[in-house]
Amino acid sequence: MPIRPILTYPHPVLRQKAALVTNFDEALKALVADMGETMFAAPGVGLAANQIGVPLQVIVVDSSTPGHRDFMALINPVISNGQGSVFDEEGCLSVKECLAKVKRFQKIHVTAQDVDGNPFAFDAENRFARIIQHEVDHLLGKLFIDHISPLKRSLYKKKLKKMLEMEEI
Ligand SMILES: [Zn+2]
Repeated sequence: MPIRPILTYPHPVLRQKAALVTNFDEALKALVADMGETMFAAPGVGLAANQIGVPLQVIVVDSSTPGHRDFMALINPVISNGQGSVFDEEGCLSVKECLAKVKRFQKIHVTAQDVDGNPFAFDAENRFARIIQHEVDHLLGKLFIDHISPLKRSLYKKKLKKMLEMEEI
């Protein structure tokens, strides 16, 4: 199960809308396994397939319990019935050195398929709901910095430009 490189903003694949998964095959299972490994190694709490350059509607979310590391794979996830709203800090493995407060639904309903194509549905709240909303945004080509003020975003772009210039030296 290889760890895959995580692509970072402004890589164009992060802006691509991910395609619906129609083949629930071995390749999909391998992708999901790699995504889980990559997320834990980062370390992160969620990862969308386009963050590793695969524009398919696949996300993984940390579902560990104390003493047991585990993750959940959501194929073709759809969010509905968003309720309430919460402002809280978010970061992203694809947006280096940036944390910002983002407004999300407090509670959502999620429908998705598992790696075998079986449909399932559940309600998610608070932090878990936030992670799913963040990851589903990735599949739509959206990043959490799209939700922050234009001023904060332009400050971040300036900071990023400087960081990239330093990497080139
Ligand atoms: Zn992210």
